[in-house]
Amino acid sequence: MISHELILDLLKRADKRFPTTSLYLDLSSPKFTTRAAEILLKGMIKEKKRETQNWPLDREQRQSMAGDFSRLSRYSTTELDRKGSKGIAIFSASGSGLWEVFPLPGPVRNVLSVDRDPYIRPLTMLLDEYKRYCTVFVDRGGARVFAVCLGEIEDHSQILDEVPGQVKASGWGGYEERRIERHIEDHVRRHLRHVAEVTYDFFRQRKFDRLIIGGQSDIVPEFERQLHSYLKERIVARVGVESAISLDEALKRTTEVDREIEKRADKELVRQLLENAKSRGMGVLGLRAVLGALRRSQVHTLLIEMGYVEKGVVCDACGFIGTSDEKCPLCGKKTREIPDAVEATIRETLRQNGRVVHVGTESGLGDEGRIGATLRFKLSA
Ligand SMILES: [Zn+2]
Repeated sequence: MISHELILDLLKRADKRFPTTSLYLDLSSPKFTTRAAEILLKGMIKEKKRETQNWPLDREQRQSMAGDFSRLSRYSTTELDRKGSKGIAIFSASGSGLWEVFPLPGPVRNVLSVDRDPYIRPLTMLLDEYKRYCTVFVDRGGARVFAVCLGEIEDHSQILDEVPGQVKASGWGGYEERRIERHIEDHVRRHLRHVAEVTYDFFRQRKFDRLIIGGQSDIVPEFERQLHSYLKERIVARVGVESAISLDEALKRTTEVDREIEKRADKELVRQLLENAKSRGMGVLGLRAVLGALRRSQVHTLLIEMGYVEKGVVCDACGFIGTSDEKCPLCGKKTREIPDAVEATIRETLRQNGRVVHVGTESGLGDEGRIGATLRFKLSA
C-alpha cells in the first residue's frame, strides 16, 4: 500500500545524476488489455522522445532514459500484473539502477514523465483520497456489510438471523401480545448484537476508517448501542433505508456520503488556512509565497486545488525553485524552466515532512491563488 514513507523513500533514492522516468497506467477498465497498454505506451514513448530531443542531456543520461523506455515496454507486454490493482506506477532510472513498481488501489490518469525527480502528484492524490469505509445496512432480521474504498465495493457479509414475524392478533387482553412482542424484541436485539459482532470482526481484519449505518430509524439507535466503542467513534453518517439494498445502491449511498464529508473537510481546511494567513501570519497563499515558505522549511500543510498546474523555474546549481526568475536570486546562475512548479512544491513539502492535501474546486481555494500552506512557525518581521 502506498504511504507517506514509501513516497519519501522513492524521492530519496532517485539519483539526480540520471533522469527518472515515471509511468502511470490506469488499469481499472477491463477494456484496457495488455495489447492496449502496449500501443498506448508506444505512443507515449514516441512523444516523449520527440519532446526530450533538445534537452541538454549527456550521452549517459540519454542512455539511461532509453534504457527506461525499453524496460517499460518490455514490462507492459510481458509482466503487467493487474491482479486486484486499479492502476500501476513505475519509476525507473536505469543509469542508477532505480526500478520501482507500485500497484495502485485506485485509478489514475495515464502519464509518462521524464524529469530529474519522480513524478509523484498522482501518488499523493491517491494517498489523500484513500479512505476505507464500512457500510452496514441493517433491519430487524437481516443485515449486509460492505467494504468501500476508492469507488470500489465489496460485499463482505450477508446476515440473516431468524426473527419471528410481528404479531397482530390480540386475544388475551393484550397480555399475550406483549409477551410475544417482548420475545421478538429479544430476538431483534440478539440479531443486532450478532451484526455488531460481525462488524467488529470485520474492523479487526480490515481496519476501516469510517462507518456508515443504514436502516430504519427505529432499528439504527439500538444497533449503535450494540457497537464496540471503536466502531461508535468511526460512525460518520446514518442513512435511512426502507428495504433490502443492492450492491450498486450501497456503493452510491457510500460515495455520496464520502463526497459530502470530503467537501466539508476541504472547506474547513481552506477556512483554517485563510484564517491563519490573513490574521495570524501562520499561512501563505499563492505559488510564489508557498515557494518562499518552503525555502524557509516553514510548511506544515500544503493545500492544492485539484488540477492546478503552473510553470516555474528551477536552479540546478542550488535547488532554488521559483515562478519566473531567469537568474537564480540565491546563486546567480541561469535557471531552467519546468512545466509544473506545483509538483515541485509537493515534493519539497514531503521532504520537509509536511502534509499534502488536494482540495476540490468548491473548497474556495480557487479564489485565493489555488495553492496555499499553513506554517509551522511565524517569521518574525
Ligand atoms: Zn541557484
